[in-house]
Amino acid sequence: MRFIAILLLSLFINDLKSQSNQNFVMDLPINLSGTFGELRSNHFHSGIDIKTNRVEGLNIYSYEKGYISRIQVSTYGYGKAIYITHPDGKITVYAHLSKFSEKIQNYVKDIQYKRKKFAIKIYPKESEILIEKNEIIGYSGNTGSSSGPHLHFELRDKNNMPVNPLKYRNIEIFDTIIPSLKGVYYKELKYNNGKLEDNYSRFKKIKFVENHNGKYLTDTIYTNGVIGFGVNSFDLMNNSNNVYGLNKIITKINDSVNFKINFDKFSFDEWTYINTYVDYAHLKRTNEKIQKLYIENINPLNLYDRNLGDGAVKLKVNDSKNILINYKVILFDFNNNITVINIPIVFTEQKKEKIFQKKGNINIQNNLDKKIRLKNYFIEFKKGTFDYNTSLTISESNNNINIDNDTIPLRKPFTIKYSLKNIDDSRKKYLYLGMKGPKNYNYFISSEKFNDSLIGNAKKLGKFKILLDSIPPEINFYNLKNDQWISNRKKLTIKINDNESGIKSFNGWINNKWILLEYESKKNMLTYDFGDKVNSSNSKNELVVSVKDNCGNISIKKITFYRKIYE
Ligand SMILES: [Zn+2]
Repeated sequence: MRFIAILLLSLFINDLKSQSNQNFVMDLPINLSGTFGELRSNHFHSGIDIKTNRVEGLNIYSYEKGYISRIQVSTYGYGKAIYITHPDGKITVYAHLSKFSEKIQNYVKDIQYKRKKFAIKIYPKESEILIEKNEIIGYSGNTGSSSGPHLHFELRDKNNMPVNPLKYRNIEIFDTIIPSLKGVYYKELKYNNGKLEDNYSRFKKIKFVENHNGKYLTDTIYTNGVIGFGVNSFDLMNNSNNVYGLNKIITKINDSVNFKINFDKFSFDEWTYINTYVDYAHLKRTNEKIQKLYIENINPLNLYDRNLGDGAVKLKVNDSKNILINYKVILFDFNNNITVINIPIVFTEQKKEKIFQKKGNINIQNNLDKKIRLKNYFIEFKKGTFDYNTSLTISESNNNINIDNDTIPLRKPFTIKYSLKNIDDSRKKYLYLGMKGPKNYNYFISSEKFNDSLIGNAKKLGKFKILLDSIPPEINFYNLKNDQWISNRKKLTIKINDNESGIKSFNGWINNKWILLEYESKKNMLTYDFGDKVNSSNSKNELVVSVKDNCGNISIKKITFYRKIYE
């Protein structure tokens, strides 16, 4: 009897526990595939990724009451996304949805049909779409730049700064595993007029051993001058194969804290400065993310406790010789599981100062515009494109141009112009600027033709090439034959593809009326929903699809099909 009572009690407690999670935007308990603030390519993750058991179509509920302030349908990024503004000014975001709730879907389709466009951004007025707490606003999915079904959920404070929703709501995640350590590094830094500079210098690896669980000791470092440290670390959780971000890192010199970074809140303005937290050159060379445990002068991120200083370890020449410093790094996950790294540092004689400079022949001052004219190419860097003065290796051959390597982060795009003067008119319109990607794949750089030049804006340094695309996109009605009866189909799917410059736009019409085609770029698929009932009064239907690529080549294809008319 007593046993049963305990059993019932524990069932009841379990029930309460799961309920506190359950009221949080989905019917499932919260299991994460991504944590707040974790390091993504070129940005910090601004929300949490909640697992949806590998399926799509689960109910998504509003976090609080409010009104819909933004709706977005995109073929990349957040895919289908809803933004709700709440009475206290907070905003919640629900992204990668497979579809919206009926009332929102109807509102969106109306506008899609008016604008004749699939991808749209709408900012409804405060009175237009009111939402109750826990109202179903949509269904989970995998739309946009998402690599598996999940819900990306974001909570922003009234200043539009993303905050960690789990901390805000006190939601606990089962995680008893300490952060994993993959590498410890240091590099020499310098001060220029009192400002800490990194100057694209290289990290050196430090050997370490694990003394006992979560406690590491490295080799002793013999150095002098100013040095900064870096770690490669991530978090793991119980019952999951995912890799997660850390919540906090602290460093100590002889037991007093000299650096602290905390991933609880950040600002969107700071996004590109992830490249001053993660060592950009090292990432590009080795694909490994070293997190810097010091703050360069140019780094504006709000993630640090700035009262502690810049985190660099300074060993002055007049420090007594052979002084031993105990430097310590402590890594925290969201549940405060910790990993500790002890690094002994010994001061030695002043070495000859090492000057780090890139090989190259074109010097660029970061506070001035720089124009570089070559044979057919012309390059222009606006001032402030680089964080530091730098020197680039640039060379042109045939119609290729090599502009150093993608190991220096850029603050803004730069312009590449290619002269079309010596090119025959018949070929001109098919040319575009391509960039060499990781697998030799040349991808399209947004470019236009102007005054006998091809002008493109590049966001990265690297290898560029003038390419030719004269082949229109392919359109394939693969599961539809001409004159076929398809009365029972709810949707129509069409495959489109462009192997060269890529797809720029597409349109479809049934019996001359524009239809909404939803584009899923990962599957190269356009979908029309017969529920839209565009021109459903004829049983004979003529479908026309037109697709344009980035060089302006157009394909148009027609097909006839039949559907029963239901009264
Ligand atoms: Zn996400």
